[in-house]
Amino acid sequence: MSTANGLTIVNCAVFDGESEELLDGPVHVTDGVITAVGGAAPAAGQVIDARGGTVIPGLIDAHFHAYAIGFDMLALDWAPRSYVTLAGARRLTAALARGFTTVRDPSGGDHGLARAIGEGLLPSPRYLYTGPGLSQTGGHVDPRGDSDTCAGHGHIGEVVDGVDALRRAVRERFRQGAHAIKIMTSGGVVSQIDPLRVPQYSAEEVRAVCEEAGRRGSYVAAHAYSPEAILHSVENGVRSIEHGNLLDAGTAAVMAARGAYLVPTLAAYDAMDRRGAAYGMSPVSKAKNLEVLNAGRRAIEHARVAGVPIGLGSDLVGELEDEQLAALRLHVEVEGVYHALTSATSVNADLLMRPDLGRVKAGSPADLLILPGDPFQQPSLLWEQSEGRTVIQAGRRLGSHA
Ligand code: ZN
Ligand code: ZN
Repeated sequence: MSTANGLTIVNCAVFDGESEELLDGPVHVTDGVITAVGGAAPAAGQVIDARGGTVIPGLIDAHFHAYAIGFDMLALDWAPRSYVTLAGARRLTAALARGFTTVRDPSGGDHGLARAIGEGLLPSPRYLYTGPGLSQTGGHVDPRGDSDTCAGHGHIGEVVDGVDALRRAVRERFRQGAHAIKIMTSGGVVSQIDPLRVPQYSAEEVRAVCEEAGRRGSYVAAHAYSPEAILHSVENGVRSIEHGNLLDAGTAAVMAARGAYLVPTLAAYDAMDRRGAAYGMSPVSKAKNLEVLNAGRRAIEHARVAGVPIGLGSDLVGELEDEQLAALRLHVEVEGVYHALTSATSVNADLLMRPDLGRVKAGSPADLLILPGDPFQQPSLLWEQSEGRTVIQAGRRLGSHA
């Protein structure tokens, strides 16, 4: 039985998720788990010839929205959950085909979708979700804008005000299997009525959410753009700053001191700038987007200098999802292949408190991506869906039933 479940990837170099130097293959897998890197190939089991390519860890997208199927937040919230879930399932399947073997969904997802994925009902990356992101009234994911409608419990966000209500909302999310908690601590690009820079939620509210998550052994991710909103978040216990585009050097130093991560989402702004209007993005959103697009590149540089761990996320809404791999291209443009690759693998894995992921090492799940060449010599291999690109999930080649 064990030989039947063996897999060896031969004729390959290996990026292990952390080292700047490529290692020598082969990569040995048994029962979906990596058993060794290097050494002789075993006599039995399946063999994949990488033809001189490079095995890297399966990519991790730390900011992926399964349920963000359109730009109109109100229309999205009013759509039936079954419809949103099926549309989201397609987005997950497409992400896996691009080589993302794990995604974190910070705002959306639910235990039903996660259960279906866990049971293998759809091809999907490993799915770690927060459930609807928490927003104050009039905050980033209050879908009502300035209309008179009542705020409900949406697919992407939920409006919850006050310490006690927030504690209950956090406990509900963990009751239903949430990986972490997401809160909105500043305005956003897609939302219409909240200024981008102004912090949201009181310090007491942020602290209560972080305290509940921490007691559970989990953590809080916060949507925040400006230095004041980032400080407001990390000083009250937030561990993962999403976007962070307006980060400055001083705030980056505070993040580093507090052990916070930055998850830049450059692909979203780049795609929205070129294609957002065609998909119904409003002029208000377009103007907000321009403000943060270039600042987002500088934020990465500030974070690197300060020693803040930098992850990678895509944050693509609606049809823009097909630009998910551009997250790697944009990160490479800012600080090169090595940092982009570690962000998308080992750093994101550490952010997710899953140090077994994002690495090609003995004991890790065999979630792998084979690139048809050396990405350090030819970076475009990371974002081009070229022939010879092979996705392996838990030791099984995508598209094969072996
Ligand atoms: Zn956000
Ligand atoms: Zn987002």
